[in-house]
Amino acid sequence: MISVKNLHKRFGNLVVLDGINIEVKQGEVVAIIGPSGSGKSTLLRCLNLLETPDQGEIEIGSARINAEKFSGKEAHLLRQQTAMVFQNYNLFKNKTALQNITESLVIAKKMKKEAASQIALDLLKQVGLVDKKDNYPVTLSGGQQQRVGIARALAVDPHAILFDEPTSALDPELVAEVLQVIRYIAKKNTTMIIVTHEMAFAKEVADKIIFMADGHIVEQGTPAQIFEQSVNPRTKQFLQQLG
Ligand code: ADP
Ligand code: MG
Repeated sequence: MISVKNLHKRFGNLVVLDGINIEVKQGEVVAIIGPSGSGKSTLLRCLNLLETPDQGEIEIGSARINAEKFSGKEAHLLRQQTAMVFQNYNLFKNKTALQNITESLVIAKKMKKEAASQIALDLLKQVGLVDKKDNYPVTLSGGQQQRVGIARALAVDPHAILFDEPTSALDPELVAEVLQVIRYIAKKNTTMIIVTHEMAFAKEVADKIIFMADGHIVEQGTPAQIFEQSVNPRTKQFLQQLG
């Protein structure tokens, strides 16, 4: 489903990913945790080529690239396999909630506007925002904007959804509604990789936890293995700091 082999990325002299290996099965939910600056966002961004990795292999669904030599066609195919949910929502400000979703269907799936609207309305229903379909992002709360962002990611029916700290820009009272939507789509057997600081949520929703530090995977395992049984000093220190 998703296979990352020996992935390397540096910015100038700074090594940000230093040989990352990950396997994610169909329908699995993987949470990536770790201190700020450990390379979590860069890893997600390499998976859809928002950043170009220096070395390694990425296989997602029907697409596969070798970082050192890949064609534009291979890159396009790889990008189609995932949809990203960003920390800051990244909605089009001059488009309504509905248009934000239909637009991506019309562009990415070459869908007719009417069919796209049907799907978009259904997705807005699923994230509880049908009544806000004609609202522009500025008139929505952060939590509502992020739910539109998630609906937009679901719309293109990707092999996997990549979440980069989907709740960390939200006021505390808005976090729960977004986690509830993610929980709901996790139950529908959607393959997801979630970078998050919400440890209780990661523990509850993830099949597998990956702990990253300094561009490495320090440890990976089930929530119980990482949160309760880890004997790795790095992991224990990180979890203790969170309290
Ligand atoms: P995390 O998401 O775990 O906080 P990032 O992947 O954002 O970590 O960043 C890892 C390291 O790479 C940090 O030291 C960051 O400053 C650096 N970095 C990220 N993006 C860039 C970039 N475009 N140019 C230079 N350095 C970057
Ligand atoms: Mg980050």
